[in-house]
Amino acid sequence: MKKLALHWKIIIGLILGVVWAILSSQLGWSEFTIDWIAPFGTIFINLLKLIAVPLVLFSVISGVANIGDPSSLGRMGGKTLLAYLVTTVLAVTIGLTLVNVIGPGKLIDEDSRIDNRISYEIWANDQGYEIKDGINYLQDPEYLERAQRITDLSKSELQDASVTEKMETANQTKDAGPLQPLIDIVPQNFFRSLSDNGLMLQIIFFALFFGVCLLFIPNEKSKPVTDFVDGAMEVFLKMVDLVMQAAPFFVFALLAGVVSKMAGDDIGKVYEIFKGLSWYSLTVFIGLMFMIFVIYPLVLKLFVRKIPYAGFFKAISPAQTLAFSTSSSAATLPVTMECVEENLGVDKKITSFVLPIGATVNMDGTCLYQAVAVVFLAQIHLIDLTLGQQLIIVITATLASIGSAAVPSAGLVMLIIVLDSVGLNPAWIAIIFPVDRILDMFRTVVNVTGDATVSSIIASGEDMLHYKAPENPTKTFDLDS
Ligand code: ASP
Repeated sequence: MKKLALHWKIIIGLILGVVWAILSSQLGWSEFTIDWIAPFGTIFINLLKLIAVPLVLFSVISGVANIGDPSSLGRMGGKTLLAYLVTTVLAVTIGLTLVNVIGPGKLIDEDSRIDNRISYEIWANDQGYEIKDGINYLQDPEYLERAQRITDLSKSELQDASVTEKMETANQTKDAGPLQPLIDIVPQNFFRSLSDNGLMLQIIFFALFFGVCLLFIPNEKSKPVTDFVDGAMEVFLKMVDLVMQAAPFFVFALLAGVVSKMAGDDIGKVYEIFKGLSWYSLTVFIGLMFMIFVIYPLVLKLFVRKIPYAGFFKAISPAQTLAFSTSSSAATLPVTMECVEENLGVDKKITSFVLPIGATVNMDGTCLYQAVAVVFLAQIHLIDLTLGQQLIIVITATLASIGSAAVPSAGLVMLIIVLDSVGLNPAWIAIIFPVDRILDMFRTVVNVTGDATVSSIIASGEDMLHYKAPENPTKTFDLDS
């Protein structure tokens, strides 16, 4: 019997996880699921992250050392960053266009929008912002009474602990100077970077530095180091294979946990939450699907040609399904690397540094979603953003997505900064917070697909793409392969 491809097994695990969560919610077993099943999902993410850091370290060193020539590294690095920037700006622009055309925030009933508008005016007055074309609630007794009710409500909304925590994280980023991101890339103690998964860029910096220096020392000295690094990398790749054997089960646990935490013992709640935010979610969803199924294949057709439409998706589907289940590009990175290398035929020299950098800085899905979210939130508060403000969104969403960590909900934290940049209330993230985890799953798939696309383009430009359409191009993660 033909073996079922891994991504299908993962999808089955995913569906069973959701079904289990729904059942356990109806039967009042949510606590059991959260206590006894969800931890296996966390173990899975931990395992993947455990592999990601050393794998990035060894693969970047080995990639650079094997390129053999620092100048071609510089050229490739430049092209990679440019490609990442272009796809990101394209994604924000698509997000902005969609949200302006569909207008999801305008489909909400007028009365709630007036309430929202009043709450915005209260907040803006507090901040000392000038409001143009306002409702001016202070002049109208009816609006004034509404305003009182709204103030009480928004206070309780702000008390939501997880939202407050996210605002604090964003504030720390916001207070930093303009060159802080650059400073953050250079570690003062490399072992500290190794101990924090959020410091991936520092690890990449160190590895690039180390790899380049390896090129400048005599061969008999560098050879044992390169051999060790190559060998260590193989060990970590084998770890990925092993962990992936159990991926379908782990994904089941992960999804069962995520949905149970959302639903508690009342699954109807999830439905209600989605109903209110359905147009917003749909707009984000359409944008993300457009990126995956239209933009990336189009870009590949233009710059690569060799890779057929279906072949591309077949090759990277294990990475995509994993990105969906874990909501983390960093956790997915080891699998993305294997898929791109083995199924798309991108040379190791390219994947080893293009993908780790991509996982940390290239987040097309995240910035598309941020653009939609900001305009949607403005729309439900009866605020028309000017063209200038929308341009600011393009810039800040691009930077915010670069600055977002490759972990669940990172995009939501950085959204606070985008909202701030156009003078909107950062606490509004509370409004879209309930559906964020689900949208995060989809945007992480886009982030990972974008990285795979760019590495194929760079490889093709350097003549390092050896795509073949084998009978079964999907990396099987067989132990004996
Ligand atoms: N979860 C996303 C990622 O890891 C980041 C985000 O948009 O929150 O790529």
